[in-house]
Amino acid sequence: SGTLLEGKRGLIMGVANKNSIAWAIAQQLKAQGAELCFSYIEAMESRVRPLADEIGVDFLVPCDVTQDDSMAACFGAIEEKWGKMDFLVHSIAFSDKEELKGSFVENTTRENFKQSLDISAFSFVDAAKRASKLMPDGGSMITLTYLGSERVIPSYNVMGVAKAALEAATRYIARDLGPQGIRVNAISAGAIKTLSLGGISGGRSLIAEGRTWAPLREDTDPIGVAGAALYLLSDLGKSCTGEVHHVDAGFHIVGMPDPEALKG
Ligand code: NAD
Repeated sequence: SGTLLEGKRGLIMGVANKNSIAWAIAQQLKAQGAELCFSYIEAMESRVRPLADEIGVDFLVPCDVTQDDSMAACFGAIEEKWGKMDFLVHSIAFSDKEELKGSFVENTTRENFKQSLDISAFSFVDAAKRASKLMPDGGSMITLTYLGSERVIPSYNVMGVAKAALEAATRYIARDLGPQGIRVNAISAGAIKTLSLGGISGGRSLIAEGRTWAPLREDTDPIGVAGAALYLLSDLGKSCTGEVHHVDAGFHIVGMPDPEALKG
């Protein structure tokens, strides 16, 4: 434990259970002295409360990012309790799992395209706008993305398009909020076994392939993602904004698997 975030307050959006990337991040930030608020969707409340208890977080707010009144109530609660905030962690995505398989061009519907982009990309724009109003002293924001935005990954389909929008949005938000001293970055994590990964057809093979292709020959560890979050959200990350930082055991740099690795 340390003091890198002593006196800093922030909102973590997207803890659903103990496998959530947001949970790994929350534990790391708490260990560095941060004061946290968790927002969660109602259906996950029974999973989220015990986790919050575990690290002494008693400020929890329900928030469905598709509902304007729910977003307003969430940030209203923070304004009321804290007056201002220092950081935001956006760790939210959703798509109909019926469309996270097979042909992208055949399977993508207008309805789910809108829903996926709304929950997985627009919600960061909306949260950043609301959070920025509570950051008179500057701040730092991060979101979570995946390589499927840059490369074609089997089954990732419309989520890849949503992540491309999310990464572009990160750059535009960074441009707009930079003059207020607010840094805005994305972490591109390698495949990790979570609830969300379970919605992707063949999600487990994304982990297995990563292990074979990645220079480090290992799974992406949520601890590494949490470490990157700490860097970006604390003053260690000073001068860094608008960046998409990969934490994926190096998977994204490789053009084809090493024939030696395929043999093993
Ligand atoms: P997760 O299922 O634990 O987290 C997803 C979260 O999104 C959940 O807390 C869920 O409640 C929330 N959510 C969904 N719809 C919502 C809504 N309408 N309003 C509010 N919240 C809503 O899975 P995770 O893997 O920890 O995902 C977190 C982020 O990390 C996502 O953006 C995901 O795309 C990204 N990511 C995941 C991986 C991976 O392999 N697991 C890799 C790279 C990036």
